[in-house]
Amino acid sequence: MEKTLKADVVAAWLVLLILAMPTSIAAESGASVFHGNTTSKVFHRVGCRHYNCSKCTALFHTRQSALEAGYRPCKICKP
Ligand SMILES: [Zn+2]
Repeated sequence: MEKTLKADVVAAWLVLLILAMPTSIAAESGASVFHGNTTSKVFHRVGCRHYNCSKCTALFHTRQSALEAGYRPCKICKP
């Protein structure tokens, strides 16, 4: 009886770990990267036609960090 109970607790923990993991990984790697145009001080998100422009060399991992760096969101891609 006791053995079964312990195994259940371990299994429950494993399930919790497995369930918790993809979200934390997604939060890390899924964090979008924004490109900031160092000349116009406008930042773009992935998929914008200006995202890979030659002057878009500033990298931001969050929208907030781009704003704090003095960049404004692009009016086309609206990051
Ligand atoms: Zn844009």
